[in-house]
Amino acid sequence: MSAAGFGGSRYCWMNGSVMETKDALVSPMEAIHLGIFEGIKAYVEGDVNGSGDLNIFGWTQHIDRLWRSADVNGLAMPYSKDELLEAVRACIIRNDYNTNTYTQPRIWPKKAWGSDDSHVVVPVWPFETLLGKGNKKFGEERRFMVSSWRRISSDALPTQAKSWANYQNNMHAIREAKRCGYDNAIFLDNRGFVSEGTLACLMVVRDGKVITSPVTASILESVTRGCFIEFIPDLGHPVEVKDYTRVELYASDEAFLCGTGGECTPITSIDDIKMGKGYPGPITKKIGEYYAEILAGNVKKYKHWLTPV
Ligand code: PMP
Repeated sequence: MSAAGFGGSRYCWMNGSVMETKDALVSPMEAIHLGIFEGIKAYVEGDVNGSGDLNIFGWTQHIDRLWRSADVNGLAMPYSKDELLEAVRACIIRNDYNTNTYTQPRIWPKKAWGSDDSHVVVPVWPFETLLGKGNKKFGEERRFMVSSWRRISSDALPTQAKSWANYQNNMHAIREAKRCGYDNAIFLDNRGFVSEGTLACLMVVRDGKVITSPVTASILESVTRGCFIEFIPDLGHPVEVKDYTRVELYASDEAFLCGTGGECTPITSIDDIKMGKGYPGPITKKIGEYYAEILAGNVKKYKHWLTPV
Protein backbone atom coordinates (compact mmCIF):
# COMPACT_ATOMS: atom_id res chain seq x y z
CA MET A 1 0.00 0.00 0.00
CA SER A 2 1.37 3.45 -0.80
CA ALA A 3 1.72 6.23 1.74
CA ALA A 4 -0.45 8.65 -0.26
CA GLY A 5 -1.30 11.76 1.73
CA PHE A 6 1.51 11.26 4.20
CA GLY A 7 4.01 13.22 2.11
CA GLY A 8 6.39 10.27 2.07
CA SER A 9 7.14 10.63 5.79
CA ARG A 10 8.70 7.51 7.22
CA TYR A 11 6.88 7.67 10.56
CA CYS A 12 3.40 8.61 11.69
CA TRP A 13 1.41 8.12 14.90
CA MET A 14 -1.63 5.89 14.90
CA ASN A 15 -3.93 4.80 17.72
CA GLY A 16 -1.43 5.44 20.49
CA SER A 17 2.04 4.89 19.08
CA VAL A 18 4.57 6.03 16.51
CA MET A 19 4.94 3.53 13.68
CA GLU A 20 6.32 3.28 10.19
CA THR A 21 3.82 4.80 7.76
CA LYS A 22 3.97 1.65 5.66
CA ASP A 23 2.57 -0.25 8.67
CA ALA A 24 -0.23 2.26 9.38
CA LEU A 25 -2.81 0.24 7.48
CA VAL A 26 -6.58 0.34 7.71
CA SER A 27 -9.22 -1.48 5.75
CA PRO A 28 -10.69 0.27 2.68
CA MET A 29 -14.06 -0.41 4.35
CA GLU A 30 -13.27 2.12 7.15
CA ALA A 31 -15.59 5.15 7.53
CA ILE A 32 -12.83 7.71 6.95
CA HIS A 33 -15.30 9.76 4.89
CA LEU A 34 -17.30 10.34 8.08
CA GLY A 35 -14.26 11.72 9.85
CA ILE A 36 -12.85 15.05 10.90
CA PHE A 37 -9.36 16.49 10.78
CA GLU A 38 -7.14 19.46 11.58
CA GLY A 39 -4.33 21.13 9.65
CA ILE A 40 -1.56 22.54 11.84
CA LYS A 41 1.87 23.93 10.97
CA ALA A 42 5.13 24.16 12.86
CA TYR A 43 7.71 26.76 11.80
CA VAL A 44 11.43 27.10 12.36
CA GLU A 45 12.39 29.38 15.23
CA GLY A 46 14.16 32.56 14.14
CA ASP A 47 13.65 32.29 10.35
CA VAL A 48 10.76 30.53 8.58
CA ASN A 49 13.11 29.71 5.70
CA GLY A 50 15.85 28.33 7.89
CA SER A 51 16.33 25.09 9.79
CA GLY A 52 16.44 24.29 13.49
CA ASP A 53 14.00 24.14 16.40
CA LEU A 54 10.29 24.16 15.55
CA ASN A 55 7.30 25.89 17.16
CA ILE A 56 3.71 24.80 16.50
CA PHE A 57 1.50 27.73 15.51
CA GLY A 58 -1.93 28.00 17.17
CA TRP A 59 -1.83 24.60 18.85
CA THR A 60 -4.48 25.44 21.48
CA GLN A 61 -6.83 27.01 18.94
CA HIS A 62 -6.48 24.12 16.48
CA ILE A 63 -6.88 21.40 19.09
CA ASP A 64 -9.91 23.15 20.62
CA ARG A 65 -11.48 23.31 17.14
CA LEU A 66 -10.75 19.60 16.65
CA TRP A 67 -12.63 18.84 19.86
CA ARG A 68 -15.53 21.05 18.74
CA SER A 69 -15.59 19.28 15.36
CA ALA A 70 -15.75 15.93 17.20
CA ASP A 71 -18.62 17.13 19.40
CA VAL A 72 -20.62 18.52 16.48
CA ASN A 73 -20.12 15.32 14.48
CA GLY A 74 -20.74 13.00 17.45
CA LEU A 75 -17.28 11.43 17.35
CA ALA A 76 -15.53 9.99 20.38
CA MET A 77 -12.05 11.35 21.15
CA PRO A 78 -10.12 8.48 22.74
CA TYR A 79 -7.01 10.56 23.55
CA SER A 80 -6.43 13.76 25.49
CA LYS A 81 -5.28 17.06 23.98
CA ASP A 82 -1.90 16.59 25.70
CA GLU A 83 -1.54 13.10 24.26
CA LEU A 84 -2.09 14.49 20.75
CA LEU A 85 0.49 17.21 21.36
CA GLU A 86 2.97 14.53 22.39
CA ALA A 87 2.01 12.53 19.27
CA VAL A 88 2.84 15.49 17.01
CA ARG A 89 6.12 16.08 18.83
CA ALA A 90 7.06 12.40 18.67
CA CYS A 91 6.34 12.26 14.91
CA ILE A 92 8.42 15.33 14.13
CA ILE A 93 11.33 14.09 16.23
CA ARG A 94 11.20 10.50 14.93
CA ASN A 95 11.16 11.76 11.32
CA ASP A 96 14.12 13.97 12.20
CA TYR A 97 12.46 17.06 10.74
CA ASN A 98 14.18 20.38 11.34
CA THR A 99 12.37 22.45 8.70
CA ASN A 100 8.73 23.62 8.58
CA THR A 101 6.23 20.79 9.02
CA TYR A 102 2.50 20.30 8.54
CA THR A 103 0.48 17.87 10.61
CA GLN A 104 -3.02 16.66 9.86
CA PRO A 105 -4.62 14.72 12.75
CA ARG A 106 -7.44 12.58 11.32
CA ILE A 107 -10.21 11.03 13.42
CA TRP A 108 -12.94 8.74 12.16
CA PRO A 109 -15.51 6.44 13.81
CA LYS A 110 -14.65 2.77 14.24
CA LYS A 111 -18.20 1.98 13.17
CA ALA A 112 -20.19 4.13 10.77
CA TRP A 113 -23.15 6.17 12.07
CA GLY A 114 -22.71 6.42 15.79
CA SER A 115 -19.65 4.81 17.31
CA ASP A 116 -18.27 5.29 20.80
CA ASP A 117 -14.71 4.74 19.65
CA SER A 118 -12.56 6.32 16.94
CA HIS A 119 -9.37 5.76 15.01
CA VAL A 120 -6.80 8.54 15.35
CA VAL A 121 -3.87 9.02 13.02
CA VAL A 122 -1.34 11.84 13.12
CA PRO A 123 0.74 12.20 9.96
CA VAL A 124 3.43 14.87 9.69
CA TRP A 125 5.21 16.06 6.56
CA PRO A 126 7.43 18.97 5.46
CA PHE A 127 6.06 21.88 3.42
CA GLU A 128 7.49 24.91 1.67
CA THR A 129 6.33 28.28 2.96
CA LEU A 130 5.55 31.20 0.65
CA LEU A 131 6.47 33.62 3.45
CA GLY A 132 9.79 35.04 4.60
CA LYS A 133 12.19 37.64 3.27
CA GLY A 134 12.81 37.51 -0.48
CA ASN A 135 10.51 34.52 -1.01
CA LYS A 136 9.59 34.63 -4.72
CA LYS A 137 6.57 32.38 -4.20
CA PHE A 138 4.79 35.17 -2.32
CA GLY A 139 4.54 37.40 -5.39
CA GLU A 140 3.46 34.75 -7.90
CA GLU A 141 0.38 35.64 -9.99
CA ARG A 142 -2.89 34.18 -8.72
CA ARG A 143 -6.04 34.73 -10.75
CA PHE A 144 -9.24 33.98 -8.88
CA MET A 145 -12.88 33.74 -9.94
CA VAL A 146 -16.08 33.93 -7.96
CA SER A 147 -17.37 30.38 -7.99
CA SER A 148 -20.78 29.51 -9.31
CA TRP A 149 -20.89 27.08 -6.37
CA ARG A 150 -22.09 28.69 -3.14
CA ARG A 151 -20.32 27.94 0.14
CA ILE A 152 -22.29 25.23 1.96
CA SER A 153 -24.59 26.94 4.41
CA SER A 154 -24.35 26.20 8.12
CA ASP A 155 -27.99 25.09 8.24
CA ALA A 156 -27.13 22.27 5.81
CA LEU A 157 -23.74 21.15 7.15
CA PRO A 158 -21.80 22.45 10.17
CA THR A 159 -19.38 24.72 8.32
CA GLN A 160 -17.45 25.56 11.49
CA ALA A 161 -16.48 21.91 11.93
CA LYS A 162 -13.57 20.57 9.92
CA SER A 163 -15.15 17.42 8.53
CA TRP A 164 -14.13 15.77 5.27
CA ALA A 165 -17.73 15.99 4.03
CA ASN A 166 -17.44 19.80 3.78
CA TYR A 167 -14.45 19.54 1.44
CA GLN A 168 -16.49 18.24 -1.49
CA ASN A 169 -17.75 21.83 -1.71
CA ASN A 170 -14.17 23.12 -2.08
CA MET A 171 -13.31 20.42 -4.59
CA HIS A 172 -16.16 21.49 -6.89
CA ALA A 173 -15.12 25.15 -6.78
CA ILE A 174 -11.44 24.32 -7.44
CA ARG A 175 -12.35 22.06 -10.36
CA GLU A 176 -14.57 24.74 -11.84
CA ALA A 177 -11.83 27.36 -11.49
CA LYS A 178 -9.26 25.15 -13.25
CA ARG A 179 -11.75 24.32 -16.00
CA CYS A 180 -12.32 28.05 -16.56
CA GLY A 181 -8.58 28.80 -16.68
CA TYR A 182 -8.26 30.37 -13.20
CA ASP A 183 -5.98 29.38 -10.34
CA ASN A 184 -8.58 29.30 -7.61
CA ALA A 185 -12.01 30.46 -6.48
CA ILE A 186 -13.90 32.51 -3.92
CA PHE A 187 -17.26 31.47 -2.49
CA LEU A 188 -20.30 33.61 -1.90
CA ASP A 189 -22.55 32.36 0.91
CA ASN A 190 -26.16 31.29 0.47
CA ARG A 191 -27.28 34.92 1.01
CA GLY A 192 -24.98 36.25 -1.71
CA PHE A 193 -22.37 37.83 0.58
CA VAL A 194 -18.66 37.04 0.27
CA SER A 195 -17.81 33.95 2.32
CA GLU A 196 -14.24 32.63 1.96
CA GLY A 197 -11.69 31.07 -0.37
CA THR A 198 -11.67 27.36 -1.17
CA LEU A 199 -9.32 26.22 1.60
CA ALA A 200 -8.71 29.47 3.40
CA CYS A 201 -10.41 32.60 4.66
CA LEU A 202 -10.37 35.83 2.71
CA MET A 203 -9.47 39.39 3.63
CA VAL A 204 -9.71 42.50 1.47
CA VAL A 205 -8.22 45.97 1.88
CA ARG A 206 -10.30 49.05 1.18
CA ASP A 207 -9.01 52.56 1.95
CA GLY A 208 -6.40 51.24 4.38
CA LYS A 209 -8.94 49.13 6.29
CA VAL A 210 -8.89 45.33 6.32
CA ILE A 211 -12.30 43.69 5.93
CA THR A 212 -13.20 40.05 6.51
CA SER A 213 -16.49 38.12 6.59
CA PRO A 214 -18.12 37.13 9.89
CA VAL A 215 -18.46 33.52 11.04
CA THR A 216 -22.17 33.79 10.13
CA ALA A 217 -21.12 33.94 6.44
CA SER A 218 -20.64 30.13 6.67
CA ILE A 219 -16.84 30.33 6.91
CA LEU A 220 -14.68 27.87 8.77
CA GLU A 221 -13.78 29.70 11.98
CA SER A 222 -10.16 30.03 10.95
CA VAL A 223 -7.32 30.05 13.47
CA THR A 224 -5.17 32.18 11.17
CA ARG A 225 -7.99 34.69 10.67
CA GLY A 226 -8.25 35.01 14.47
CA CYS A 227 -4.53 35.75 14.71
CA PHE A 228 -4.67 38.25 11.83
CA ILE A 229 -7.57 40.09 13.46
CA GLU A 230 -5.42 40.34 16.61
CA PHE A 231 -2.19 41.61 15.03
CA ILE A 232 -3.17 43.67 11.95
CA PRO A 233 -4.16 46.76 14.00
CA ASP A 234 -0.50 46.87 15.22
CA LEU A 235 0.43 47.74 11.63
CA GLY A 236 -1.85 50.78 11.67
CA HIS A 237 -4.77 49.21 9.81
CA PRO A 238 -8.14 48.67 11.49
CA VAL A 239 -9.89 45.37 10.89
CA GLU A 240 -13.63 45.26 10.32
CA VAL A 241 -15.51 41.96 10.49
CA LYS A 242 -18.62 42.46 8.37
CA ASP A 243 -20.67 41.11 5.51
CA TYR A 244 -19.61 42.53 2.16
CA THR A 245 -20.81 42.07 -1.38
CA ARG A 246 -19.30 40.78 -4.61
CA VAL A 247 -19.08 44.36 -5.91
CA GLU A 248 -17.17 45.52 -2.82
CA LEU A 249 -14.84 42.58 -3.43
CA TYR A 250 -14.19 43.75 -7.01
CA ALA A 251 -13.66 47.32 -5.80
CA SER A 252 -10.99 46.32 -3.26
CA ASP A 253 -7.47 47.71 -3.32
CA GLU A 254 -5.99 44.38 -2.25
CA ALA A 255 -7.18 40.87 -1.47
CA PHE A 256 -5.42 37.94 0.15
CA LEU A 257 -6.16 34.52 1.61
CA CYS A 258 -5.36 33.66 5.19
CA GLY A 259 -5.21 30.14 6.52
CA THR A 260 -2.86 27.42 7.69
CA GLY A 261 -2.24 26.21 4.14
CA GLY A 262 -2.64 29.61 2.48
CA GLU A 263 -0.62 31.47 5.15
CA CYS A 264 -0.96 34.98 3.64
CA THR A 265 -1.55 34.52 -0.10
CA PRO A 266 -1.84 37.64 -2.30
CA ILE A 267 -4.53 37.58 -5.01
CA THR A 268 -3.76 39.23 -8.36
CA SER A 269 -7.28 39.49 -9.79
CA ILE A 270 -10.84 38.34 -9.24
CA ASP A 271 -12.94 37.59 -12.35
CA ASP A 272 -10.12 39.32 -14.30
CA ILE A 273 -10.57 42.55 -12.32
CA LYS A 274 -7.15 43.57 -11.00
CA MET A 275 -6.82 44.21 -7.29
CA GLY A 276 -5.44 47.76 -6.89
CA LYS A 277 -2.42 49.10 -8.73
CA GLY A 278 0.66 47.23 -7.50
CA TYR A 279 0.98 43.53 -6.87
CA PRO A 280 1.38 42.20 -4.25
CA GLY A 281 -0.36 45.10 -2.53
CA PRO A 282 1.69 47.06 0.03
CA ILE A 283 -0.57 46.24 2.99
CA THR A 284 -0.72 42.54 2.07
CA LYS A 285 3.09 42.58 1.93
CA LYS A 286 3.35 44.23 5.33
CA ILE A 287 0.94 41.69 6.83
CA GLY A 288 2.78 38.73 5.23
CA GLU A 289 6.14 39.96 6.51
CA TYR A 290 4.89 40.58 10.05
CA TYR A 291 3.12 37.20 10.12
CA ALA A 292 6.40 35.47 9.13
CA GLU A 293 8.11 37.20 12.07
CA ILE A 294 5.32 36.07 14.43
CA LEU A 295 5.61 32.49 13.15
CA ALA A 296 9.38 32.56 13.66
CA GLY A 297 8.89 33.68 17.27
CA ASN A 298 10.53 37.04 16.63
CA VAL A 299 7.60 39.11 17.94
CA LYS A 300 7.52 38.88 21.73
CA LYS A 301 3.93 40.11 21.99
CA TYR A 302 2.64 37.11 19.99
CA LYS A 303 4.82 34.35 21.42
CA HIS A 304 1.65 33.00 23.04
CA TRP A 305 0.61 31.72 19.60
CA LEU A 306 3.57 29.30 19.58
CA THR A 307 4.15 25.95 21.33
CA PRO A 308 7.68 24.52 21.18
CA VAL A 309 8.04 21.02 19.72
N1 PMP B 1 -11.63 27.67 5.40
C1 PMP B 1 -11.45 26.40 5.01
C2 PMP B 1 -12.52 25.71 4.23
C3 PMP B 1 -10.25 25.73 5.30
O1 PMP B 1 -10.06 24.48 4.90
C4 PMP B 1 -9.25 26.42 6.03
C5 PMP B 1 -7.97 25.71 6.37
N2 PMP B 1 -8.07 25.02 7.58
C6 PMP B 1 -9.49 27.73 6.44
C7 PMP B 1 -10.69 28.34 6.11
C8 PMP B 1 -8.50 28.48 7.27
O2 PMP B 1 -8.52 27.98 8.58
P1 PMP B 1 -7.22 27.95 9.48
O3 PMP B 1 -6.69 29.33 9.54
O4 PMP B 1 -7.71 27.49 10.81
O5 PMP B 1 -6.29 27.00 8.84
